[in-house]
Amino acid sequence: MAKIYLDPGHGGTDPGAVANGLQEKVLTLKIALKTRDILNRDYEGHTIRMSRTSDTTRSLAQRTNDANSWGADYFISIHINAGGGTGYEDYIYNGSVSNNTITYRDKLHAEVMKQVDFRNRGKKRANFHVLRQSSMPAVLTENGFIDTTADANKLKSDAYLDRIALGHANGIAQALGLKKKSGGGNNGGSGKQGYVEVITPSLWTYNTANWDDKAVIVNEGEVFTVARDKFKVGNGYMYQLKSGLYITASTQYVRYYTR
Ligand SMILES: [Zn+2]
Repeated sequence: MAKIYLDPGHGGTDPGAVANGLQEKVLTLKIALKTRDILNRDYEGHTIRMSRTSDTTRSLAQRTNDANSWGADYFISIHINAGGGTGYEDYIYNGSVSNNTITYRDKLHAEVMKQVDFRNRGKKRANFHVLRQSSMPAVLTENGFIDTTADANKLKSDAYLDRIALGHANGIAQALGLKKKSGGGNNGGSGKQGYVEVITPSLWTYNTANWDDKAVIVNEGEVFTVARDKFKVGNGYMYQLKSGLYITASTQYVRYYTR
């Protein structure tokens, strides 16, 4: 059973960064709770502990002590950046780290970048308490700049926080090799399985949620099981299929139905 420790930055008397009508502590908690819920909805073989699940004050030492004594396998600290900039970046400790720390971060970074349209500020290293004092692989993510209007506008959207959380959940799941729940994550909670039927002579599928990452051509009449309901990619929408491939959600090319 993989033990995942989610650490929403700040909280209680420490709001973190504040700007544009937003508080860092509120956003980090929302993203962490969404990440927990997606992991529990879509994956199995893990257990999750959080440094806080409400607006409570926790010192940095309390967070790492808690994760260390619980024996977490992976520590993920979620933050929002400030100071004038734009985009997403993540950190691992700038001292000596395990190979797992590096690969866990690489996967998290890649999966978050797949889901969001934040500028990619890169993979960084720093001497942060939560990275230095945790005895398991630890990564800290900085999800946009609260004091940059363009980033703040994204962070004001609950759907955008969902995307950030999905990236975190998928990155964590990949790192720990979690198994996807069978038949899970189909259609926004109606409990029915979703399908797409190709209604055009031939149609590209995609390896990732990226219109440039073409995979194979499928043909009219073929039906695929939907693993994830449609979501925005660039100017359009895609479904993720059970096979792992992605396909357009445009009703010009596919018909969606549930059963
Ligand atoms: Zn912070």
